[in-house]
Amino acid sequence: MANPTTIRDLVCCGCGCLCDDLRVDLSAGRPPVVRPACSLGEKWLAEVASWRPAPCLIDGQPVTLDAALDRAAELLSAARAPLVCGLSGAEVNAQRVAVAIAELLGGCIDGTCTPGERAAIETQQSIGAVEASWGEIAQRADLVIFWRCDPAATHPRHLQRYSVEPKSCWLPRGRADRRVVCVGCPQSETTKHADHTIPLTAAQGIEALARLRAALTEKQLRPAEAGFPANELAELAGWIRGAKHAAVFYDEALTAGGPAELIELTQLAQQVQDQTRVVTASLPAAGNAAGASSVLTWQTGFPMAVSFSSGRPEYGPGEFNTDVLLSGGEVDAVLVVADEGLKQLPQEAREQLDLTPMVVLTNEAKASVAAAVQIGVAPLGSTPGGSVFRGDGVALPLENQLHRVDNQTALSHHAVLQELQQRISAKLNRAAVSGVAGAP
Ligand code: SF4
Repeated sequence: MANPTTIRDLVCCGCGCLCDDLRVDLSAGRPPVVRPACSLGEKWLAEVASWRPAPCLIDGQPVTLDAALDRAAELLSAARAPLVCGLSGAEVNAQRVAVAIAELLGGCIDGTCTPGERAAIETQQSIGAVEASWGEIAQRADLVIFWRCDPAATHPRHLQRYSVEPKSCWLPRGRADRRVVCVGCPQSETTKHADHTIPLTAAQGIEALARLRAALTEKQLRPAEAGFPANELAELAGWIRGAKHAAVFYDEALTAGGPAELIELTQLAQQVQDQTRVVTASLPAAGNAAGASSVLTWQTGFPMAVSFSSGRPEYGPGEFNTDVLLSGGEVDAVLVVADEGLKQLPQEAREQLDLTPMVVLTNEAKASVAAAVQIGVAPLGSTPGGSVFRGDGVALPLENQLHRVDNQTALSHHAVLQELQQRISAKLNRAAVSGVAGAP
């Protein structure tokens, strides 16, 4: 049967929106035509469409997949302190097998989260969160606040699908029933869609939230310094109090310097729950970081920085993090599940990585780091199978992806890791011992 020229309901991994409604027309040749239109989605699909299988290499020399897998299993099973990292560039089934491999090896596993992602996880663990699915926000929110972010640039269809254009019986007049406020956002398409913009610098973020919290409890504060938008924030407090359902969107800019600003925002949402519903929602970067922390949590009980060296999962934030382990020279072999996230690592950790024997799964012709063993795999989201997690925790099955119709030989992360797991088991002469991390 001839390949179809149209794919429906393709999940786009071009940004953290993970839109699952794309219709891709391949009949016009390359690059594919994407509907609904999205510049970032078109760029991602053009890259995926032009992707060609990456080679398998040992010490830079081309080898067969079988030889690469054998050498990888040998290298990892001989290690005393191995690390499995780079999970966020793979789908959920592959992440599950990665956990099983870390358990088999008695090593550490971490998602190579960015500092911002780590700060968000730590905040959630320490004080909780008040969140909602993007679907609930799209249907219910009569007040949407963008806090120091620019979704029109980073998540182009978010405004239309979730945050600005409501389609709901709860908001019968549509856009007229929703107030949109940009706080500290750059002048862009996002601010053009807003009803109000409040200027705010990054340095003023924490104080602004503290003052907003005070205004919501009608606490008296000392006068603000000149240039601080105190009156605008007092007005915003009134809109929050008057809203039936308010949603505050933020991105990694909020947590890049640590968790303090997110803690203030979360406490604000928690403190007004007896007055109205206020939820916070992150706009994650492209990839499957949310899947990595979810898989680690359901397999081990912890969302990142897990060690199996004692035979059971142990949690060590600040101890078993990829950057900490690498910078401290505590690792003697690394399995990089997907190398896209490695650029997030600090310089010191990257330098140490270059000195450590590595098995790297990559979709590039040449991995971003010098690997002892390189295994070529298809980019995240290009092949069917498994799922990815959106920032609000909704899992999206990858069913109608591009390379099924292109009929290319595209190895998935999952297939490679399953084979690697079997070969490591054979070399160590055991299966995953605790069953916590049993792979599918
Ligand atoms: S908004 Fe993001 S996920 Fe949606 S189509 Fe555009 S790039 Fe893809």
